[in-house]
Amino acid sequence: MQQVTILGSTGSIGISTLDVLQRHPEKYRVYALAANKSVDALLEQCLQFQPAVAVMLCPNSAEKLKTKLDEAGVAIEVQSGMKALERISSTDQTDIVVAAIVGAAGLLPTLAAAKTGKRILLANKEALVMSGALLMREVQENNAVLLPVDSEHNAIWQCMPVGESQQYQFDNKGIRRIILTASGGPFRDWEIADLEAVTPEQAVAHPNWSMGQKISVDSATMMNKGLEVIEAHWLFGMPINKIEVVLHRQSIIHSMVDYMDGSVLAQMGNPDMRTPIANTLAWPERIDSGVAPLDLVKAGRLDFAIADFERFPCLALAYKALNIGGTSTAILNAANEVAVEAFLQQQIKFTDIARVIADVLESVPATSADSLEQILSADKLAREAAQKQTKVLCNH
Ligand code: NAD
Ligand code: MG
Repeated sequence: MQQVTILGSTGSIGISTLDVLQRHPEKYRVYALAANKSVDALLEQCLQFQPAVAVMLCPNSAEKLKTKLDEAGVAIEVQSGMKALERISSTDQTDIVVAAIVGAAGLLPTLAAAKTGKRILLANKEALVMSGALLMREVQENNAVLLPVDSEHNAIWQCMPVGESQQYQFDNKGIRRIILTASGGPFRDWEIADLEAVTPEQAVAHPNWSMGQKISVDSATMMNKGLEVIEAHWLFGMPINKIEVVLHRQSIIHSMVDYMDGSVLAQMGNPDMRTPIANTLAWPERIDSGVAPLDLVKAGRLDFAIADFERFPCLALAYKALNIGGTSTAILNAANEVAVEAFLQQQIKFTDIARVIADVLESVPATSADSLEQILSADKLAREAAQKQTKVLCNH
């Protein structure tokens, strides 16, 4: 029986993970569930899955959860705060950690899981974008197993010459390039001039995937694909010039690997995150995920087009940050988190998101990213610079 910790269990990935787990009660048990402050959602999950521990980042929410569990007569240990998230990710009581917190908040517990050699199912791409070199080093030194839940990286993983043992350096394995597919989000067919007037409601309405708010906005700006380029660089040890993006509006091919001999391997399926979740839970075995079989005739056609940097300046900014290296990807990530939040709060325009990030990348100097301190300091400076810039734009 494998014991599972889910960081971010009340979110889109967390809920899909629980859906897969409940199909295999003989294989997996939920050890811990964790969320930010959605008390009622976590309460309901606790009653259904009976974890040993429940963690809320927010102490007030943890108090409320504890009271409600007591009233229900259920004995589950309730903890709060970042240290508690690190504890449930590193304890001997757990084998698998699902890193599904959104944003930089997921970094420390993911690192804690790596340092203690867990099997990590990584959805929280921001952790890798911030600290790719550091996280991969901890994974390798501590024999952790880092498996990509992000659908593109999971697809690439499945198309790589992996075998039964895990490796993270694929650059010398006869691979010409990695091709990440991108749906292009809700605005792929809009006039570029109309993008200024985009509302948060329009931005979070993704045509193919149902996801949390932040990643939905990232998909609309295509910063999501930019973060994924950086994620692929670290996960697969591939140089930036071998990572390409192509628009593929149907989201049926989740990504591809192009080999020297001309073979292009693709992984296909319905756009449903339960597939990569089941794949990473059971790897190298296969288990049922609950996803409907792909109906190719119904899908009808697969289209491909160029990813346009003018329409999607955030994608260009991500390549730029990766080229600079060091802490610049942490700076990019922090600026993006602040800008997306400001856009969701209707403080800045959709097109200002790229402006804020470009400005912060210019104004905050990158350093080397060898230590956690350097990364957290870059994150902090970039957030401050981004807040300042959003205020300026807000007053216009
Ligand atoms: P979401 O917003 O639906 O859920 C986020 C979860 O994290 C919630 O449970 C929330 O309570 C928790 N959380 C947020 N801030 C927290 C904090 N400070 N401390 C502790 N918990 C916190 O997000 P999502 O769509 O499930 O995405 C989660 C991660 O997975 C993101 O990094 C995203 O990029 C990645 N991802 C998501 C999808 C998808 O289909 N949703 C696909 C690929 C990758
Ligand atoms: Mg993805």
